[in-house]
Parts: sequence; C-alpha cells; structure tokens
Amino acid sequence: MNNKTIFGTIIAFIIGTACCWVPMLIVLFGGTVGATAVASGLNAISLPFLLLGVGLMSYGFYKSKEKNKPMPIILESRITCPKCNHAKEETMPTDACAYFYECENCKVVLKPLKGDCCVYCSYGTVDCPPIQEGKACC
Ligand SMILES: [Zn+2]
Repeated sequence: MNNKTIFGTIIAFIIGTACCWVPMLIVLFGGTVGATAVASGLNAISLPFLLLGVGLMSYGFYKSKEKNKPMPIILESRITCPKCNHAKEETMPTDACAYFYECENCKVVLKPLKGDCCVYCSYGTVDCPPIQEGKACC
C-alpha cells in the first residue's frame, strides 16, 4: 500500500462517515445548551430523559437557526426631527419601508439621508428591522 492509497482511504473514510459526524456536530452544539439547562438536576434525571432533552434542545436550536434570527428585532424607535428637534416614539413596520415621515410638530416631511434606506435609519435611535436582520435594504 503506497501513500496515495492511504490518502484515498482517509478521504473515502471522511466522506463515508459524513452522515454520522455532521448530525453529531449539531447534537453537540445543541447538547451544550441542554446540558447547561439540566445541570442542576442532572442526578435526578435518568439517561433516556436526558437524551430526550438533548434531542429536543438540538431540535430547538436547529429550528431557531432555521428562522435566521440571531437576536430580537427592536421595533420601537425615537425619531428626532432635524429641523425642530422634536422627538417622538414610533413603532417601525416590519414589512414596509418608511420613506417619508412628517414631523408632527413643525410638519416638515423628512426623507432618508443619502445612503440610508428609510427615515428610521437616518433620524431614529435604532436602524429599521431589515437592517437589523442583516439585509442590505428594506
Ligand atoms: Zn420638526
């Protein structure tokens, strides 16, 4: 057996066992969270229940990753009018972009600054939901 054959065997082994170690990585990742959660009552929990817990945690982790929401989206933003400095709490829409915003105090119609996608990004305290989600624009 020469070196080339050994190398080929190793590659074949990695590819052949991919079906086993890929889910293992996911279970390990979710299991870490699960183990932390049940650590206090570990002695009282039997192995089947522990495995079930780890399984559910992995499933939960997998589902939350699927939703692609690493952090909660902030919808409350305080818009400050650049003309009169009047500030007002607004709830941002998640499905639409606020391109125009009329200041309730001086009635000036605000438009996004150059490079911003909406008035919340330009005048609000937090960026608009699509920006928070990591999308380029809303
Ligand atoms: Zn104003």
